[in-house]
Amino acid sequence: MDVHSLFESPFETEAQRQIRELTRKFARERIAPLVEQDEETETFRPEIIHELGQLGLTGIPTEEQYGGAGLGYQEYIAAIEEIAAVSSSYAISVAVSGLPQVILQTVGDESQKKKYIPHLAQGKWIGAFSLSEASSGSDAASLRTTAVKQGDHYVINGSKLWTTQADSADVTILMARTGGEGSKGVSSFIIEKGTPGFKMGKREKKMGTHISHTMEIHCDQLRVHESQLLSQEGGMKIALRALDSGRITIAATALGVARSAIECAVQHANLREQFGKPLVDFQGIGFMLADMLTQYQAAKQLVQRAALLKDQNAAYGIAAAQAKLFATDMAMQVTTDAVQILGGCGYTQEYPAERFMREAKVLQIVEGTNQIQRLVISRSMKEKTT
Ligand SMILES: Cc1cc2nc3c(=O)[nH]c(=O)nc-3n(C[C@H](O)[C@H](O)[C@H](O)COP(=O)(O)OP(=O)(O)OC[C@H]3O[C@@H](n4cnc5c(N)ncnc54)[C@H](O)[C@@H]3O)c2cc1C
Repeated sequence: MDVHSLFESPFETEAQRQIRELTRKFARERIAPLVEQDEETETFRPEIIHELGQLGLTGIPTEEQYGGAGLGYQEYIAAIEEIAAVSSSYAISVAVSGLPQVILQTVGDESQKKKYIPHLAQGKWIGAFSLSEASSGSDAASLRTTAVKQGDHYVINGSKLWTTQADSADVTILMARTGGEGSKGVSSFIIEKGTPGFKMGKREKKMGTHISHTMEIHCDQLRVHESQLLSQEGGMKIALRALDSGRITIAATALGVARSAIECAVQHANLREQFGKPLVDFQGIGFMLADMLTQYQAAKQLVQRAALLKDQNAAYGIAAAQAKLFATDMAMQVTTDAVQILGGCGYTQEYPAERFMREAKVLQIVEGTNQIQRLVISRSMKEKTT
């Protein structure tokens, strides 16, 4: 049986298939041999991102004039899924490095675009996005870090929490309050690595995705020139809208994690025999596998739909929320079922199933929790009936 053929999509174009093959080869040859050990030791290797960049995989949807591949989200999700199938930590790393590119491309001025995007798009630099704080997660617009204008500089003070790869990022987009309450008082700044006053705090001890470091940041009299302000003061909403695209990449990450969990479960269910026959021949297990594959395919179509709408420059925010919600819930269910199908083996680190389950969990939380996705979707339905 060719397990891979189970996951193929008839909706993919030739360009997508080529990107998928290229990424799959790199992920399997370069990342797979390191992943279990590096998850154990919490080792992030920036050179992996640099090498992905050399293959043109760190700026897939970024415009060619800024060093990107100039392709679409349909190609981007294929690459992210393939990286995630081997390591969701590196898929998240590529997706997070993509956020400053999207934001700069959407709201940056020409000199900001030229200065920062090419390095990020070519994987020479790593990017981060710092919004969350101890008292503001889902309610992001209530953040407390302040940026006070002094002459032609802003002085930023406060602490950020949970910033992915801030410790290795060359550029971080950081949100701080320049005005009154709510999102209108929040602005976005470009912070370069090594800027005095930009200090790393503790690294979170997490359930999974250990290769991807999650950092506390302290801004202590952090001075940035006004040219580092993105768009204009109060530009939080514009920057956040760009984050809708991030939800598509988290959904694609969920596809990769789920697919690997299904492959692992299918392999085990065919090899392991109990009561004189392979597990797959017990209807209780066979039906679980059938549901897992069907849920994966359904999620994939939602993710492809969101990517297609984005590529067509159509409104895609709701589609992105639906894709993120469904794909990450699917990944949680599928990885939990995979552990069950592996029985005792599933609960040990001899097999990757338990890692997939831990990695799926965070996808329901980041880039807006799944409750927040439901809020986004349901609000759109309310608007339509009034
Ligand atoms: C590994 C990891 C990496 C991260 N990386 C980044 C990053 O790079 N940059 C960054 O800025 N942030 C990052 N985050 C933060 C992440 O975005 C937040 O954790 C997330 O937005 C949720 O915020 P919270 O943890 O404060 O939960 P809370 O907002 O406190 O929510 C707690 C629970 O209440 C629910 N809830 C909250 N409000 C509502 C509501 N109105 N209706 C229904 N339910 C609600 C939530 O869904 C959740 O279940 C990361 C987090 C993790 C764990």
